[in-house]
Amino acid sequence: MNQLSDRILNMSTSATLAMAAKARELRTEGKDIIGLSLGEPDFNTPDFIKDAAIQAIKDGYNSYTPVDGYVELKEAIITKFKRDNNLTFTLPQIVVSTGAKQSLANIASVMLNKGDEVILPCPYWVSYSDIVKLNEGIPVEVKTSIDTDFKITAEQLEAAITPRTKMLWFSSPCNPSGSVYSKTELRALADVLQNHPNIFVVSDEIYEHINFVGGHESMAQFEDMYDRTITVNGVSKAFAMTGWRIGFIGAPSWIARACNKMQGQITSGANCIAQRAVITAMEADPSKVQYMVDEFKNRRDLVLELLNGIEGFKTNIPEGAFYVFPNISFYFGKTYRGTTINNATDFSMYLLEHALVATVAGDAFGNPDCIRISYAASQDQIIEAIKRIKESLN
Ligand code: PMP
Ligand code: GLU
Repeated sequence: MNQLSDRILNMSTSATLAMAAKARELRTEGKDIIGLSLGEPDFNTPDFIKDAAIQAIKDGYNSYTPVDGYVELKEAIITKFKRDNNLTFTLPQIVVSTGAKQSLANIASVMLNKGDEVILPCPYWVSYSDIVKLNEGIPVEVKTSIDTDFKITAEQLEAAITPRTKMLWFSSPCNPSGSVYSKTELRALADVLQNHPNIFVVSDEIYEHINFVGGHESMAQFEDMYDRTITVNGVSKAFAMTGWRIGFIGAPSWIARACNKMQGQITSGANCIAQRAVITAMEADPSKVQYMVDEFKNRRDLVLELLNGIEGFKTNIPEGAFYVFPNISFYFGKTYRGTTINNATDFSMYLLEHALVATVAGDAFGNPDCIRISYAASQDQIIEAIKRIKESLN
């Protein structure tokens, strides 16, 4: 008899982390795998941030932290929100967590009741759907396609709303499509929500700085959305700090208070040394990490150019983050040595086996016609990986 809870048995394993683990395992078996699966910058954390962490250790930061984060960090986050997003928050509106993933988990657990619907424009970041389901919410997927740059329209949002709709969750720049919503596009979605005052929005802006079109736009900038938008952000991506595990929200204070209460029973405050280091990251001008953004843009151009040379890869032009999400349905139904590729998972496994390149199947992001390729890898690795993909498909 299985003694585990239905809750965990019904949960899917994170596809991004599973593929990264698989690639690691194959590498230990001696296989030369190129990993384009994990959304993790290959850069080092900038020295000025590392130095702040070392200083924090020397200064004796070793105790439990306030559950919602050090006041100095929350103040630095408030300054960041004002400087970068023109959003005004006060201390009770900020909660620092152990990664934006925990911020999202907090939000779902404090906002959702059984049967509440959460609209997820597809493709969405892999964990949204399981975090919602874990909290007895119902993910409502809204399909988009490459022809609309994987963005939902106002009409699609309106059509997805029911009396049970509680929230809309989305990321811009988007993981996995790299799409960036313009101010006009966000306003069009906000206009729809005007008629539905009980719907809350999670605006996941963790890729904010990795934007190749310039200006990042926040949903909370609209006065009529401010009181029902939870802005999620963190340092994993732009500051190359995935392992430091710091994320945060700016939210209506009653939601922040609830997240604080939840976190107080589950994990307590985030790591003290990481928090001290993130104060420095928040205070830094974003131009300090522009070199990474510039390099990501070069890699995006390289990936698109190389993928366009392979039959059956249909791409759009991602405007941010560090992913491309090509439609590879051209290969469905094709057979190689007795194995037929029926879906993106089969295709991704084919690439792993025959090209020794790790990608992630689009199924986990709510789009089974695509695969996600992360270009958070060196240009040499990208060139070699796509060469191998091309050869394996020939
Ligand atoms: N949101 C999105 C869209 C992401 O890609 C990630 C990447 N892990 C996260 C949230 C969570 O980030 P973290 O927990 O590392 O702060
Ligand atoms: N967000 C990254 C990704 O999508 C990291 C892995 C994860 O946390 O799922 O690959």
